[in-house]
Amino acid sequence: MERLLEVNHLEVGFKTYGGEVQAVRDVSFHVNKGEILAIVGESGSGKSVTVQAVMRLIPTPPGRIKQGEVLFDGRDLLKLSKREMQKVKGSRISMVFQDPMTSLNPTMKVGKQIEESIITHQSVKRDEARKRAVEMIKKVGIPNPAERYEQYPHEFSGGMRQRIMIAIALACHPEILIADEPTTALDVTIQAQVLDLMKGLKEDMGTSIILITHDLGVVAETAERVAVMYGGLIVETATVEELFHRPKHPYTWGLLESIPDIEAAEKERLVPIEGTPPDLFSPPKGCPFAPRCKYAMEVCVEEMPPAFAIGEGHEAKCWLNDPRTPALTELVSAGR
Ligand code: SF4
Ligand code: MG
Repeated sequence: MERLLEVNHLEVGFKTYGGEVQAVRDVSFHVNKGEILAIVGESGSGKSVTVQAVMRLIPTPPGRIKQGEVLFDGRDLLKLSKREMQKVKGSRISMVFQDPMTSLNPTMKVGKQIEESIITHQSVKRDEARKRAVEMIKKVGIPNPAERYEQYPHEFSGGMRQRIMIAIALACHPEILIADEPTTALDVTIQAQVLDLMKGLKEDMGTSIILITHDLGVVAETAERVAVMYGGLIVETATVEELFHRPKHPYTWGLLESIPDIEAAEKERLVPIEGTPPDLFSPPKGCPFAPRCKYAMEVCVEEMPPAFAIGEGHEAKCWLNDPRTPALTELVSAGR
């Protein structure tokens, strides 16, 4: 499979009065052509910061990309000039955020906003851009596209606004769409519709998608591969099927147990795992999950677990996967 984007050893810190927060620590992952990769984790796990670094959206200062590379089309995006990066953004990699209201211009017709995005990134005439904008409104499943073109953001529901954001992001046929919690603000039914739309557009246009979410239910519905983040680290990477059938990290086990069932979904936001995420001012030298992990051993506190290879494309940063702890591994998988 062709790798479209590859992130290697990314580290991002933020200076504060209390010291530097290590928001992202040695994160590596890749996205294949035409696939949906989900990055899942609790808030504060570093997933948004990771994709903001990819898009060069980290405010500096206080933020700082301390290390790493983001390879796209043979170039390191972190080394591009602002101008070169501007060309990549929007036309080759674009982004959709959680709250469409803050990204849409309330005083501009939505059709015009799509049109502007097309004109900014591509050399097409206004007539053509307008035609394509109307087509995009139709493509994202909004009825009466020509009339909707003339309307303002407040005339759209939350779900429809998110569809418009997706239309803006995809209008220039980017190779990668990064969606940061795109459906978190929507209710469950609308959420499912928007996810379906993204899946359909991926099939249709061949766009690769990086989907950021805190919800493994969303991952199961949408993605092909998944990276689980905790405490600024990717702690497990696998295909979605592997992750659900053969999870190898206690944090992933906790996330899986916390998926609410469909009926309860709207009422309860389950607290996934007891305890609080690690203090990223002074991250622990060992496994960041150790204080919350019921399987923690001495080595866990002393030493950062390396990424153990579990199988094809499946890795987990947990000492339980070390061949030197066979008894415990058996014990734990038997207990699951
Ligand atoms: Fe738990 Fe140790 Fe594995 Fe960390 S490395 S998740 S503390 S068993
Ligand atoms: Mg976030």
